[in-house]
Amino acid sequence: MKSFFLCFLIQVFFSSPDTWLQNRQDSYADIAVADTSLGILILVNKKNKLAQGYRPHDLVPIKDKYNRGIMNLLRSEAAAAFAAMCHRAEEDSIILWNRSAYRSDTIQAGLFENAVKRRGLKSAARFSARPGHSEHQTGLTVDINSTHISFRNSPEAAWLRQYAHLFGFIERYPRKKEDITGYEHEPWHYRYVGITAATYIHENELTLEEYHATIGKQTGKTSR
Ligand SMILES: [Zn+2]
Repeated sequence: MKSFFLCFLIQVFFSSPDTWLQNRQDSYADIAVADTSLGILILVNKKNKLAQGYRPHDLVPIKDKYNRGIMNLLRSEAAAAFAAMCHRAEEDSIILWNRSAYRSDTIQAGLFENAVKRRGLKSAARFSARPGHSEHQTGLTVDINSTHISFRNSPEAAWLRQYAHLFGFIERYPRKKEDITGYEHEPWHYRYVGITAATYIHENELTLEEYHATIGKQTGKTSR
């Protein structure tokens, strides 16, 4: 019995991130309530859902100069970091602006419904989140400049890939990580996690799911 338990522990602590995440993120199953105690590191995806009606307490408008969207709210720390990033980008002649930031679950429900009507449920689920499962509801996420895949070849996207982590943002749904994040590549969708986590994630080419699995292993507990 003891050796069985030891084997189990060894497997848990030394399994690769792929094994750790073998329970793929691209389906709505085994859903948990998102852990809001994680603060700006909160994990919201197809398996971690925000409580109905969740709304961050410190939403503020993004600076006008860097906003062209109707949905222009971010949590205050993320809004300040976004403005600082846009300001710095300007020095490199890169113009960044918010297209869509905080969304309530009511708005998300409408968007998801429309996506399903247009593309069918299976296709919609690859790029649109169900209400309660959208990172936009955390107030820590911003779609920058575009929502079209061609954005990935733009100088703005290249700048973001290179420098966003210095301001605490990560490209949340990177290429070739669709099985882990549950979403197609979205080169415009950036998530604020703070500079320390963003730098670690950037340097190790992780997703937020893998970051939480790594941190979970380091602290000896799983983190969803
Ligand atoms: Zn987005």
